[in-house]
Amino acid sequence: MHELAVAEQLLKLVEEEAQRAGARRVVAVHLVLGEHSHIAEEALRFHFERLTSQGSPAEGAQLRVRREPMRFRCLECDADYAPPAGDWRCPRCGEVGKLLDPGDELRVESLEVEMANTAYEEEEEEKEKEGGRGWPGET
Ligand SMILES: [Zn+2]
Repeated sequence: MHELAVAEQLLKLVEEEAQRAGARRVVAVHLVLGEHSHIAEEALRFHFERLTSQGSPAEGAQLRVRREPMRFRCLECDADYAPPAGDWRCPRCGEVGKLLDPGDELRVESLEVEMANTAYEEEEEEKEKEGGRGWPGET
């Protein structure tokens, strides 16, 4: 149930951002999800799709998730590193560094939206006009 609450919050944020930007539709949501987050990506996708299937501007939006590792900085040799699971030592000198980013967060990096007046829509209108013009000539 945890992912459902997260998906609800996420959708609320996405809808607010879309409205602020004057977007008609959200095409994609770029997320950063820490590798050590408790949130299961698949469950989040499932709930997000289900929530947006009931008439949201984010309906059909793709969730593009970038996984971000835990990051450390070594105080001995000043290296930044993302250690493999279970081994937090600096790959250069073997010291255990200082934790910079626990890699457990979820945040929205950016949204891809479709604005109210898109080139695509204008094209559609053009076609309709052309079709309309054809009628009188046929009679
Ligand atoms: Zn080091």
